Amino acid sequence: MKRKSCGVIAKQKDENYIRLNGGAVILATGGYEGNQKMRYKYLPGLGKFLDNTEIMGRPTNTGDGHLMALWVGADMDPLPHATMFFDANLAFSLHIGAWVLSRQPWLNVNASGERYQNEDAPYGYTCRADLYQPGKFKWSVFDSKWPQEAPNMGGTVCERIYPNSPIPPFGDVNTCKEGLEKALEKGVAVTADTIQGLAEKMKVPVDTFVNTVERYNELAKLGKDPDFGKDHLKLTTIEKAPFYAIKVSPNLLVTLSGVRVNTNLEVLNNEGKSIPGLYATGNVSGGFFGFEYPVHITGVSLGRSFTQGYFAAKNAAARALKKA
Ligand SMILES: Cc1cc2nc3c(=O)[nH]c(=O)nc-3n(C[C@H](O)[C@H](O)[C@H](O)COP(=O)(O)OP(=O)(O)OC[C@H]3O[C@@H](n4cnc5c(N)ncnc54)[C@H](O)[C@@H]3O)c2cc1C
Repeated sequence: MKRKSCGVIAKQKDENYIRLNGGAVILATGGYEGNQKMRYKYLPGLGKFLDNTEIMGRPTNTGDGHLMALWVGADMDPLPHATMFFDANLAFSLHIGAWVLSRQPWLNVNASGERYQNEDAPYGYTCRADLYQPGKFKWSVFDSKWPQEAPNMGGTVCERIYPNSPIPPFGDVNTCKEGLEKALEKGVAVTADTIQGLAEKMKVPVDTFVNTVERYNELAKLGKDPDFGKDHLKLTTIEKAPFYAIKVSPNLLVTLSGVRVNTNLEVLNNEGKSIPGLYATGNVSGGFFGFEYPVHITGVSLGRSFTQGYFAAKNAAARALKKA
């Protein structure tokens, strides 16, 4: 049966239904980050790891647009779907400076006191590695040299730390100092004068953590990371007391895959033909991102949604006017 889309039936605030027949429908309902069943289905291998973690996207984004499109025969992006992750830990809600400081590619250890990744990988990737760790969190560990070392890490986008800035962006050293104080006060960060003492406060096995730090210092002095391949400029020793650790946990912001569309933003069926009158934009639409959000293209997700929204509206209006 050939399907087309000519309108919607929507439930209003007063629980009454309204039918709108405009000749075209644009789906702009975002991702399905708030829908556990869809996360399990379309993010295989990842879905269950997201249970009991904070989903930072809108809870109202439950994939309704995806489902409505599927009901009228739309074709879905192939698996696995793309996601946007974020290392928005507890420090994020406390203070922007604590969050930025924790995001530098310092030594990362898990709850077992072990290093497990190249901390300098894009945050979408490190977040996935964090998610698979016991307790789904990590400690970001550094020493009191951080005000000199962090600005040299050369982070991009919202990771960059500036030594001094007359108009502080959120990543200047003074803002980070304030943030660290706040995180220590609230127990999101811990500090100690010895590595053993730090391990105790982090509640990680002391001997393992001491070995991890010793190995990391050895690599930093060597200027090479044969263990995980981190850029030598991001290898900094942990030897000058006091020592610090900030607790970090990964969060899913949004899902980025959806129903396939053509260049007019018309939704396609599984024969690759457009479903007349049905358009999709932003995170309910597919074919744009693969696997993970590319952090080196700033704002590309919002940019896609705005741009597609504009063109979908133009195309849908042209169709509706033609029909009128
Ligand atoms: C904390 C955070 C930080 C981000 N930072 C960046 C960034 O720096 N750069 C970037 O490019 N992107 C960023 N993103 C991602 C970006 O915000 C999204 O990709 C973008 O907003 C998607 O736009 P959209 O229009 O597709 O969906 P959304 O903006 O999610 O809008 C969908 C809307 O549809 C509504 N809706 C859903 N179902 C229904 C229904 N059945 N009936 C009626 N309404 C419904 C929802 O309530 C929502 O208002 C961030 C996301 C988050 C959560």
